[in-house]
Amino acid sequence: MKVYDYIIIGAGVAGLNAVANIPEDKKVLIITKESSWDCNSFYAQGGIAVPIDENDIELHISDTLEAGANSCDERAVEIMCRDGIEVINDLIDGGFEFDKDPKGNLLYTKEAAHSTNRILHAGGDATGRYLHQFLLKKTNFQFLSETTVTDFLLKDNQCYGITLFRNNNFENIYGNNILIASGGVGSLYEFNTNAKTVSADIHGICIEKGCELGDMEMMQFHPTVFVKSKFARKQLISEAVRGEGGLIVDSEGKRFLFDYDSRGELSPRDIVSRAIFDKKLKDGGEVYLSLENFTKDGFAKRFPSINRALKDIGFKIPEDKIPISPAFHYAIGGIKTDLNGKVGEFKNLYAIGEVANTGVHGANRLASNSLLEALVFSKRAVAYSLKQDFKIQPIKFGFDETTLFKPKDKEYKNELRKIMWQSVGIVRRNSSLKTALQRVEEMLKLDIGRLLKLRLLTSKFIIESAVGQEKSIGAHYKIKEN
Ligand SMILES: Cc1cc2nc3c(=O)[nH]c(=O)nc-3n(C[C@H](O)[C@H](O)[C@H](O)COP(=O)(O)OP(=O)(O)OC[C@H]3O[C@@H](n4cnc5c(N)ncnc54)[C@H](O)[C@@H]3O)c2cc1C
Repeated sequence: MKVYDYIIIGAGVAGLNAVANIPEDKKVLIITKESSWDCNSFYAQGGIAVPIDENDIELHISDTLEAGANSCDERAVEIMCRDGIEVINDLIDGGFEFDKDPKGNLLYTKEAAHSTNRILHAGGDATGRYLHQFLLKKTNFQFLSETTVTDFLLKDNQCYGITLFRNNNFENIYGNNILIASGGVGSLYEFNTNAKTVSADIHGICIEKGCELGDMEMMQFHPTVFVKSKFARKQLISEAVRGEGGLIVDSEGKRFLFDYDSRGELSPRDIVSRAIFDKKLKDGGEVYLSLENFTKDGFAKRFPSINRALKDIGFKIPEDKIPISPAFHYAIGGIKTDLNGKVGEFKNLYAIGEVANTGVHGANRLASNSLLEALVFSKRAVAYSLKQDFKIQPIKFGFDETTLFKPKDKEYKNELRKIMWQSVGIVRRNSSLKTALQRVEEMLKLDIGRLLKLRLLTSKFIIESAVGQEKSIGAHYKIKEN
């Protein structure tokens, strides 16, 4: 029986940076659901937050804690900020090029709720794509794309491997260390900015198998998204656009955010999202992103990908105002891990990147901290696992061959996405959460495929977490009812 040293589920920044830290003599298998670039990492725009030097570490920590509504795990935040400088240096030493000024100095930008300019970026607004391609090129290990992980092989606090589905066949693959880097839950929501592969299947497996999830009511919505397209993934307009002069205005051109928070456009994203949501509800009109502070060439140079996407839709930049709406963006909650990325009592199971709940983000993620978290904790998980040098004693497992898709899944999936957006979105009420929960429970009893079942299990968990959290905090906002 072949046993890999490492099985990595997911080829975003978390998975690939883990791979970059594994010695070349190890046997490693990387699994990705569709093509290697079909992940959230590829679409990241704004950049990577990092302390600009040792003196900025404390400030980055306090900004992160404040944005997280003081619900973060302070130890995890400290690790992320202190080790952040090192992981960025790893990238630069390895040949990664962040944007620089003509004199060769790194260019740092500002995003909401950061008290200083500390966001590094690459390719203007193509940080994720550049970083993902850079890490991908460094990978020499075996890659399985178009492959879906459908189950874990767990016994006696060990993960022996996974079941995967590929070329219409199920197969068990065994490994000494299993690293889950499968991203967030975007596809559960009608309006979202995420890659379509990011659909919460692995969260669902964790629920089935008793691996603990945490903070699942904490779902982050991004305020500036163009949602009026037919594609499932909606066009995000980076926070950095607001940081560098983009204005949010109502249909009369008024900058109304100051009515909600004195920081206006630079308020944390949950405040901006709720303000836009509330404004639309009250006025019934559109809310726009105005780019009037940019020149045509300036915007195209600084934000080339967003510029291209908006022009393809038909907007004239910078004169046209872009109608915007909040959309689901980032899963703060996830699989609970310790400070080394280890999952619960399992000896050789790790979760890294967006799928993990390290406690770094608390109740609300500070902009551009997620790529940093993925880089720091993937490196830590590999370093820790190398020290443990854990080896399984292989035992044979059978596998669950339940059909992944059934004919009516698409219809139910779309219904679920609407329910999650309408009832488990930016503003929540116990009454609609309970109605949503009831319908999700009914759907779980229908004749459905395994992947939809896993989505429903995750949705149910999110809803129950939201019901259980009475206090409005960070990204979770609940209106009290009589
Ligand atoms: C539009 C957009 C812009 C963003 N901008 C920024 C930014 O500027 N700065 C920042 O810090 N963060 C940003 N983020 C968030 C950040 O990009 C993500 O949190 C981060 O990239 C997640 O990386 P990851 O490796 O954990 O997961 P992902 O990059 O999402 O990768 C998940 C991987 O798991 C695989 N997978 C999932 N399920 C399965 C399965 N069942 N079987 C096999 N494989 C599976 C997928 O195929 C994929 O390869 C942005 C996100 C989006 C969507």
